[in-house]
Amino acid sequence: MTALFEQELARLRAAHLARKRRQVAPLIAPAELALTDEALRGTTYLIDGQPRLSFGSNDYLGLSQHPVLIAAAQQAAARYGVGATASPLVCGHSPAHEALEQELAAMVGLPRALYFYAGYAANVGAIPALVGKGDAVFSDALNHACLIDGIRLSRAESHVLPHADLAALESALQTSTARRKLVVTDAVFSMDGNVADVPALLTLCERYDAWLMIDDAHGFGVLGERGEGTLSYHGIVGANGVAPAWQGRLDRLIYMATLGKAAGVAGAFIAGEPSMVEWVMQKARTYMFATAAPAMVAESLRAALQVMQDEPQRRAHLRTLQARLQAGVNAAGLPWRLLPSDTAIQPLIIGSNEDALAVMARLDDQGVWVPAIRPPTVPEGTARLRISLSAAHTVEQVDQLCRALAQAVA
Ligand SMILES: *Cc1c(COP(=O)(O)O)cnc(C)c1O
Repeated sequence: MTALFEQELARLRAAHLARKRRQVAPLIAPAELALTDEALRGTTYLIDGQPRLSFGSNDYLGLSQHPVLIAAAQQAAARYGVGATASPLVCGHSPAHEALEQELAAMVGLPRALYFYAGYAANVGAIPALVGKGDAVFSDALNHACLIDGIRLSRAESHVLPHADLAALESALQTSTARRKLVVTDAVFSMDGNVADVPALLTLCERYDAWLMIDDAHGFGVLGERGEGTLSYHGIVGANGVAPAWQGRLDRLIYMATLGKAAGVAGAFIAGEPSMVEWVMQKARTYMFATAAPAMVAESLRAALQVMQDEPQRRAHLRTLQARLQAGVNAAGLPWRLLPSDTAIQPLIIGSNEDALAVMARLDDQGVWVPAIRPPTVPEGTARLRISLSAAHTVEQVDQLCRALAQAVA
């Protein structure tokens, strides 16, 4: 056994595909930050013991260290204890979870929401609840791994379509004779940062009587006036609920978003028509056979939803940083290009795995940490630095990243 795995591991390392974990902790504990050190909150970490300015997290609004979220978790731990003790369907569903679900549904403008302890669990559980043998799933080639795993587990026939190719999707839908048809897509693509054309997808789904599931892991909190996500970005829902043009047309939509990224805590939810949500609750095995997330997580999330809506300046600042980074990268005349992106995900395409790792190391030497993303997470030959911006970053910190990138051109 040892010889076998040593051989396999050596092969991974030779292909520059071996991954390494780092130990990461805030440089200064959030509870101990002085007012003068605010720029460190959610931006500066000890990474393997070394202080680094980080552009690696998905903490897009900088909420993971927000004092109000921390206090909510502490108070809930004092009220409920730290563990949920059972599956939500047994005795793990608390008043905190119930209130969270109602607030999530209200926020995204859909009738009902169901909270899962992780986004991975939501997708891997919901898709097999929705479709099975005899059904067909139409999946974008760049979809997140957990959507792909959910599709595999469902045993529905799987059609993987070229990225964002509506014509290819239309012809696949047209020729399908499956009983149920489910189109599945990232709403914001996790390694590219671009936004799916949800109105066009919904219209196609209407034409061919298909359902649409969108995974808004990187849009929820970031896009929309109050952080409602991709549906709001596209004007499908607004401050007054479903927009007039979309009234009565969302019953084929399954909305999913995660809560460990912009919301800063953990978990995910699916939302949509009450009977669909009820069915997923009854059937998703990752919901039924897993211990619920602790109530302190739910209470911390309720605080996060409040901050997301009350502090729109976080999103405005994020957009300032996006423009600053794009201008800084252009001005530096780097041999690499940023993919066009309206979101916090700003991928800098490097090319080979080896080069991406080398650039990451040269940034690291300058105190700046940006993760290199390699195949199989992204297509061969498109290894990249996935720069992820956060509302916690200052303009000066983004300038520091741009200077470090200019230095890293060797
Ligand atoms: C991160 C992510 C998930 C998984 O969510 P977790 O809560 O981290 O398990 C699902 N879908 C997409 C698109 C993601 O980026």
